[in-house]
Amino acid sequence: MNDFKAEPEEIREAMLAATKRVLDSGWYVLGKEVESFEAEWATLCGVAHGVGVGNGMDAIEIALRSLDIGAGDEVITTPMTAFATVLAILRAGAVPVLADIDLDTALLSIESVKRCITPKTKAVILVHLYGQVRNMQAWSDLCNEKQIVLIEDCAQAHLASSGGRAAGSFGQVAAYSFYPTKNLGGPGDGGMLVTSDEMIGARAGRLRNYGQSVRYQHPELGMNSRLDEVQAAMLSARLKWLPEFTERRREIAAAYRKDISNPLVKMLSEPEEPGAHVYHLFVITCEERTRLQAHLQSQGVQALIHYPISIHHQEPCLDMARDPLGLKNSDFHANVCLSLPCHPQMSEDDVRAVIKAVNAFALA
Ligand SMILES: *Cc1c(COP(=O)(O)O)cnc(C)c1O
Repeated sequence: MNDFKAEPEEIREAMLAATKRVLDSGWYVLGKEVESFEAEWATLCGVAHGVGVGNGMDAIEIALRSLDIGAGDEVITTPMTAFATVLAILRAGAVPVLADIDLDTALLSIESVKRCITPKTKAVILVHLYGQVRNMQAWSDLCNEKQIVLIEDCAQAHLASSGGRAAGSFGQVAAYSFYPTKNLGGPGDGGMLVTSDEMIGARAGRLRNYGQSVRYQHPELGMNSRLDEVQAAMLSARLKWLPEFTERRREIAAAYRKDISNPLVKMLSEPEEPGAHVYHLFVITCEERTRLQAHLQSQGVQALIHYPISIHHQEPCLDMARDPLGLKNSDFHANVCLSLPCHPQMSEDDVRAVIKAVNAFALA
């Protein structure tokens, strides 16, 4: 599903040069590299502030805590997401409420979210799943009308945009992950919270660093979740390739949409506009998923499932609050979704081999 070793040699050179720069500087935590990468990434997101943190999950937790969302507060999100989204809500001390998804995109359903809103609802965490940014006006309108905060989980949506606005600029706060497999990933963990709100940015900056305001003064209890200088320097080096890599993901997706023609396989909806999908994952659905996956494996094509177990079926989440009408679409999607390889290092031959293997699948 990923092939880091096949990356261009120049990327490796740029990462080594970045690492050397940090080692030569003798400054390893919260320094110039993090500051400049924060500014760079915030600018790409169209917001004023970036706060580099340890990982994407912490970015969500710190976002919630910066907004004073915690004990007794309800936060609505999707059960079709990485476990980290929901774990971050629990770690902030808030109460996750799971709404259902739309089957044609696997994104959070606005109708279901409406059914989940109570007087205790403080926020919606909208996950731009698989790299899709969709229906943002409707989400902004709903959150404004109900006076709840919109938080974007952008861990899969680097450089995605809608109507000329970047993912991360729609909500009061947004969270990015730079885990190795993300569209922008480093050789380790990393994350960033982005926001246009100066107060939230400043508070997040303290919360990631023990709640420290100035050295040795701790007006509140924070965490230790800092992006380190080496990761920031390497991410900044890798950033140069991101637009090109994103374009390559779109080309692969376009080839899949055009040439996969197996009646047993369905595509998710096309994005609203080309920029609104960065194909972190290219996901298809197939009611014979287990057999399709085995067939692909036999043809040398690895395909993975995102995600096979919805959050509400995870052991610690069995009693989690949810849409009173249930989470049927999430359950259905979890049983039929399959992610085809879609990464920038794939050659034309690789892409053709995937298409051929998918089209050759038949029920015996
Ligand atoms: C990867 C991911 C996260 C968590 O990011 P980490 O850096 O691994 O903590 C959160 N949400 C989504 C949707 C993700 O894909």
